[in-house]
Parts: sequence; structure tokens; C-alpha cells
Amino acid sequence: MTDTTRTLQPKPWISGIAPYVPGKSAGADGRPLVKLSANENPLGTGDKARAAFAEAAGELSRYPDPGAAALREAIAAKYGLDPARVIYGTGSDELLHLATSAFAGPGDEVLYVRYGFAVYEIAARRVGATPVEAPDRDYATDVDALLAAVTDKTRVVFLANPNNPTGTLATREEVARLHAGLPGDVLFVLDQAYAEYLEPHEDDGGLDLARTASNVFVTRTFSKIHGLAAERIGWGYASGAVIAALHKIRAPFNVTRCGQAAAIAALGDDDFVERSRTHNAKWRQWLADEIESLGNHGLRVVPSATNFLLVLFDGAVTAETMNQRLMDAGYIVRWLPGQGLPNALRMTIGTEEETRGLAAAIRAALAD
Ligand SMILES: *Cc1c(COP(=O)(O)O)cnc(C)c1O
Repeated sequence: MTDTTRTLQPKPWISGIAPYVPGKSAGADGRPLVKLSANENPLGTGDKARAAFAEAAGELSRYPDPGAAALREAIAAKYGLDPARVIYGTGSDELLHLATSAFAGPGDEVLYVRYGFAVYEIAARRVGATPVEAPDRDYATDVDALLAAVTDKTRVVFLANPNNPTGTLATREEVARLHAGLPGDVLFVLDQAYAEYLEPHEDDGGLDLARTASNVFVTRTFSKIHGLAAERIGWGYASGAVIAALHKIRAPFNVTRCGQAAAIAALGDDDFVERSRTHNAKWRQWLADEIESLGNHGLRVVPSATNFLLVLFDGAVTAETMNQRLMDAGYIVRWLPGQGLPNALRMTIGTEEETRGLAAAIRAALAD
């Protein structure tokens, strides 16, 4: 007989987690909407990646290569890295969790900037560590504030650069200064999920740092510009010692066969990446200009280096109201009250038609 005086309880630090909220793709009534809530590539997936995926799908009964050797070689060749120091994950999300699991635990602190990526808090709490937020500087990373928040208990510092949901970019100098100010026993995780959207002169130098520093872990993803979000595949680069620790705790076959094949092909499709980047730069600027031209409604666009805009609503039409009106008009963007941004909407840059439609819907919603 079960002793019912004793009830099953998750660990207290697990009970404290507010689950990650994914971007929606349908309205409350189930009607499909234009999804501009998850920063996916509006151009879809490149033909080369699709073809490689289809070919790999012919062999489903065998486990994938557990060492992802061909993928590591392809990444290393593309970026001039040591393939032995490339790790891969079920999305870069898995890598963020591995980083806290290997380097932080109960009593330790995991530090990131306010309005950082939502996964960081969950990754910290999941291992019993304490999440610590440093103040931002007008929605952007404040390196001095981050350094001031480092204590003897700090074990991991996360920086998404460019950052999600704000879209802001810390410069190469700022990133180097942050790293230089961290003690050697703190792991600096530089999450570059949007790196491929940057202009060459905007490169934050993360991979250069990771080549030489023992405590830097750079993460990348195939979910964003490469258009492979469905396959859940990311990669990271760090010192041999960091990578060895992470390998011990990753799931044994953590990236799929089709995902590996598609990712390798995507790395070889510069044309698709360039088209995606150019499209994004053009329509991001266009949408920002449209919103700025709306006049005195209290809207402000935070400068973005990514494939989305964070728009602040400090006028009569609130972010919550705008979110509802956009949904009624057929567009799903991301309202972020759970991340301390009840006054903001994050809008992914869509196709030309979607972006024009979104701008028109915003204009109409302000006139309502
Ligand atoms: C989208 C995103 C990721 C995670 O992407 P995966 O699909 O898990 O590879 C990581 N960090 C940031 C900042 C992101 O926006």
C-alpha cells in the first residue's frame, strides 16, 4: 500500500520554474494566422538543405552518427575551427542547458542581462542555481552593470548577442571588455543565435575569443537564418576542457540523422544565407521606418541587429491592445509580459507581403 502521508514533490528549484512560452501559430479560435512570433526564416529552408534532408530520410532505422563527425568537420571548415572542439545540440537550447548543468548547481549564481533570452532563467533554475539579472541600458547590454553583478558565487554568465527579445548588439570591444572582467572560473556563454544576420563589421569577435580563452563557450543555431527550426540542431565552440565536460552529459544521440545532413548542406548554401540576410536587412529597415512614420502614438523601435523588431508602446494604444488587434487582423507577434516587457511587442520580419500587411494592420489598429 502506498503511504499517502508522503506525497511526491519535484525538487523545490524545479517547482519555481515558469515554463518557456513558445511563439503562437494560431488564434484562440484555432484560425491559422501569419506567424511572426518565433523568429523563423520567412524564406523557408534552402533547396540544398531540403534535398539533403529528403535523402537522409531514406534511412530511418539506424541511429545517427553519435559523434556528428561530418557535421563537426563542415562547421570547422566553414569557420576555421578545430573540429574536436565543436559540440552539437538538440537546438542550441540544449547547449545552454548543458552549460549550466556542467558549471553551476545549488548555491551558485547564473548571471545575464535583464530582458535576456528566456531560456537562461530556466537553465539556471533547473540545476538549482540562482538566476541573477543585471540592469540593462535602455534595453541594451550594460557591460558595467553585468560586471558589477559578478560575485564569488557567479559560475556562468549568459549573453545573447544580438539579444532576443530586444534585438540589440554589444560591440566587439564591449564583449571583449566583459570577458576580460570575468574571473577565470566563470564560464562566459556567448549565444550567437542571430550571428548570421550581422554585417561583417558587426562581428562581436566571439569565435576569436573562444579559439583562445579557456572559459568562453559560443553557441550557434541552424534554427534561424538556416531555416531548420523543425530539426532542432545547434552547435557550440569552446576549449577542449569545456567541450569534454559538456559531452559527458549531452544525450547520446542528440542530433538526428536528417538534421545533421540538412545542416551540413545548409552550411554549403551561401546563396540562401545571403538572400535571407539581404531580405531581412531590407524589410527590417522598411518596417522600422514605417513604424517611426506613424506619428505621435508613443511607439518606439529598439535598434535591431536581428530578424525581428522590439517595439515599445507608451501611448494610448498599449502593447496588449495592439497584440489583440493584430491577432484579430490575422497576425501573431510576441507580447512579452512574462519577461518584464508588458509595454512591448516583438515582431519577426516576414516575407514582403507579410511585412507590408503587418505595417498596414498596425496603422489600422492605431486608428481604431
Ligand atoms: C532562437 C534562439 C535560440 C535557440 O535556438 P534553437 O532553436 O534551440 O537552436 C537560442 N538563443 C537565442 C537568443 C534565440 O533567440
